Amino acid sequence: MEKSIVTHNFSVKKENRNILKGHNSFCLWFTGLSGSGKSTIANRVEQLLAENSLHTYILDGDNVRHGLNSDLKFSPEDRKENIRRIGHITHLMIDAGLIVLSAFISPYRVDRNIVRDLIGKNNFFEVYINTSLKECIKRDTKGLYRKAINGEINNLSGFNAPYEAPLNSDIEIKTQGRSVDECALEIIQIIQQRIKL
Ligand code: ADP
Repeated sequence: MEKSIVTHNFSVKKENRNILKGHNSFCLWFTGLSGSGKSTIANRVEQLLAENSLHTYILDGDNVRHGLNSDLKFSPEDRKENIRRIGHITHLMIDAGLIVLSAFISPYRVDRNIVRDLIGKNNFFEVYINTSLKECIKRDTKGLYRKAINGEINNLSGFNAPYEAPLNSDIEIKTQGRSVDECALEIIQIIQQRIKL
């Protein structure tokens, strides 16, 4: 880090913002294969939280890649940088007092652990959306698996690029044969046992 840069210690802290907003701020970090249901479930969880007057924000893979991270591609280095930047944004948003729902394939365990260390384990809940590759291929919501099968893309996580499933996620959600509502409610129930909403 540049030695001449000195961190300024501002007076209004996360704790003050949490009191103003009336709830804790933390992150739900959704990881899982493309099409596993990260965005769909994050969306439903956010709706349920917002209905209860909680302040939330969703950071979603496709949306961030169109803007802030539009300079990044899908090499291992760029994926690492993608998650590093999003980790810092998530951290800032938690500091701002929000419940952040970050939905990214985030295929590498080491990168997810770096974010956990940055944010702190008390405010970071890894949510593994566990849907089998076979089911994701069947859903193929974005047509990516068809492209990978046809040889048009060669870096689809879990298909022809690595996806390292969590070994001990905070929350594991199996989506197959279950409704989006069931999955979202299960996440909220588990969170309520761990942190005051
Ligand atoms: P991701 O964000 O992980 O790439 P999406 O949320 O975009 O995945 O797509 C998941 C797809 O799976 C959606 O079309 C959704 O309707 C479908 N789906 C079926 N059952 C579930 C479930 N229980 N939870 C989440 N999504 C489900």
